[in-house]
Amino acid sequence: MVNVPELFGSNVFNDDVMRERLPKSVYKALKKTIQDGETLDESVANAVAHAMKEWAIEKGCTHFTHWFQPLTGVTAEKHDSFITPDGAGNVIMTFSGKELIKGEPDASSFPSGGIRATFEARGYTAWDPTSPAFAKDGTLYIPTAFLSYTGEVLDKKTPLLRSMERLSKEAVRILHMFGKTDVTRVMTTVGPEQEYFLIDKDMYEARPDIIYTGRTLFGAKAPKGQELDDHYFGSIKTRVSQFMAELDKELWSYGIYSKTKHNEVAPSQHEVAPIFTTTNVAVDNNELLMEILKKTAEKFNLVCLLHEKPFAGVNGSGKHNNWSISTNTGENLLKPGKNPSENTQFLLFLAAIVKGVDEYQDLLRISVASAGNDHRLGANEAPPAILSMFLGDDLGAVVSSIEVGEEHESEGKKTMDLGVDVLPSFKKDTTDRNRTSPFAFTGNRFEFRMLGSAVNIAGPNIILNTVVAEELKQFADELEGAKDFNKAVKKLVAKTFKKHDRIIFNGDNYSDEWVEEAERRGLLNLKSVPTAVKHYIDEKNIKLFTENNVFSKEELHARYEVELENYAKLINIEALTMLDMAKKDIIPAVTSYVRELTDTALAKQALSADIPVSLETKLITDLSQKLVCFSDKVADLENDLIKAGELEHDMQAYADFYCDTVFADMQALRAIGDDMETETASDYWPYPSYGEMLFGV
Ligand code: ADP
Ligand code: MG
Repeated sequence: MVNVPELFGSNVFNDDVMRERLPKSVYKALKKTIQDGETLDESVANAVAHAMKEWAIEKGCTHFTHWFQPLTGVTAEKHDSFITPDGAGNVIMTFSGKELIKGEPDASSFPSGGIRATFEARGYTAWDPTSPAFAKDGTLYIPTAFLSYTGEVLDKKTPLLRSMERLSKEAVRILHMFGKTDVTRVMTTVGPEQEYFLIDKDMYEARPDIIYTGRTLFGAKAPKGQELDDHYFGSIKTRVSQFMAELDKELWSYGIYSKTKHNEVAPSQHEVAPIFTTTNVAVDNNELLMEILKKTAEKFNLVCLLHEKPFAGVNGSGKHNNWSISTNTGENLLKPGKNPSENTQFLLFLAAIVKGVDEYQDLLRISVASAGNDHRLGANEAPPAILSMFLGDDLGAVVSSIEVGEEHESEGKKTMDLGVDVLPSFKKDTTDRNRTSPFAFTGNRFEFRMLGSAVNIAGPNIILNTVVAEELKQFADELEGAKDFNKAVKKLVAKTFKKHDRIIFNGDNYSDEWVEEAERRGLLNLKSVPTAVKHYIDEKNIKLFTENNVFSKEELHARYEVELENYAKLINIEALTMLDMAKKDIIPAVTSYVRELTDTALAKQALSADIPVSLETKLITDLSQKLVCFSDKVADLENDLIKAGELEHDMQAYADFYCDTVFADMQALRAIGDDMETETASDYWPYPSYGEMLFGV
């Protein structure tokens, strides 16, 4: 039996531990930093470091690490032990405030988009006291931000923290205008729902494509996919259930509020969702969660796939970023209340978000752009690459009536009559959720659904926070001088909704009509990484980031370069893997099968000319033709990879070429490969099939 309350957070240097172990004055000073964002004093750091070390040693730690989130897309860590020579040939275990606050990893091998010359390759990591440290695998993990020697940001955490500060400042300004002067700080909160696949480890090991790229580059569809919807919320298989139980235990021990788990739509696809928390903690927790998913799977001879599209023909995996804003006095600013049409404060925040999403569609799209996610966005499931917002019937009606200047009578929650007396009656949610919307209001928060499963959620939240901060700033500036505040707010809200209502769409986002309608409305439809990322450095976006001190112009250019380069490298790895598989495994396998067919036909004919060999002849002819075609496609891909190499000096052209040409070659090659798989005896086919992988757990 697990004692959950006791297990929860047992590997975390959390508030309880701090209160118990830190001198009162130190605890108070640290709390001030965590809650009010005040700068930390060195003597406090020393005391915290000492307590952390003692605690970590009790947890079996010998090392500490500054854990950070560079632009590689995965977390990074370098471990240092606590040992210090005592001068007499022995060691003592030490950890100073300096070591806690600042690390100096060699930064030369992390992506910087040309910011950092190699002679200043040193980088700094800086402790983020607002995200708790934890003990894992014998090491004390300290969440940190990562900067270059010259102070440019090289990670995802620093801009996130900056964006949170910006939003806090502007939201507080607005709230003070509404008379809420007790509010001193505003936090954004995030609860990410995480999808993933589980496959058997033995099958994983037989698939070089999944090993190198996280997804299948070849693979014919199985006779059964997800068409029966029998996996979604279906009963969970024993092995998976054991995995999930272990996963929960691990997550809880790291203080992650794991709450919900279920089977997803595709076979062998699942979801886990924690309860929301402050954004930067939610980001760290999600990074840790992804790692724990992978490590826990191994214990059950399973592999967890976090790629956005591991299998063609069935759903890919995403991540839903549930996002809201709340005050240090405990008020959720996105809660409409009983009568939203009267709730001007709520409407003003809503208007800021509507305006922000409309004006910065491109940045929100960029924040979820990755080679893997390109398979989902704009494909025929998941949200399309077009940003739009869904407000729900009730709120939608409120907004429409404000636009035309009418009063709206809110209907409030309706009671559902279930027609069966023994069943309890309950209130219906008025945000009748539109599952196809990429950015939906869900009662007291927005759910941004375009994220791919592997993305670091810092990216989208940096954009959301910055954009909303900017809009709130504009509103605050405009309202500051108003004679009649209430009247001015109402006018501003109405004006904003009217101007930006093209971004609101309540219909089916997956339909073809929407794509046309969105074009008429002038909404963006950025279908691939290179076409989206281009807008990073648009004048209006540079202005947004520099004025809000989230990125400098140089940092923004660097991120643009890094995104393009990562994209091109990834497609390149996929292409090389395909070539390897095609030449070393698939062509030899099909050739062997053709030889067996030929031997059989010859043997039959030697026995008697009357034995029919038409089947063998047909298969031999067919497969031989396909082999020729297949090897032509191999040559096309090889040639285009050479051409790609010549474009490397121009990052945009380089990435465009991978997107438009190399990727198209890969699809053409795959089509014939998959076709041959359906005609080749399974004994000869070198890889586990889709059926085996998707239904093999
Ligand atoms: P559904 O699948 O119906 O959208 P889930 O329960 O799977 O709902 O996930 C909802 C997520 O939204 C959870 O992580 C939940 O904690 C989060 N959430 C709820 N309220 C807030 C809020 N105020 N801020 C951020 N996230 C929230
Ligand atoms: Mg869910």
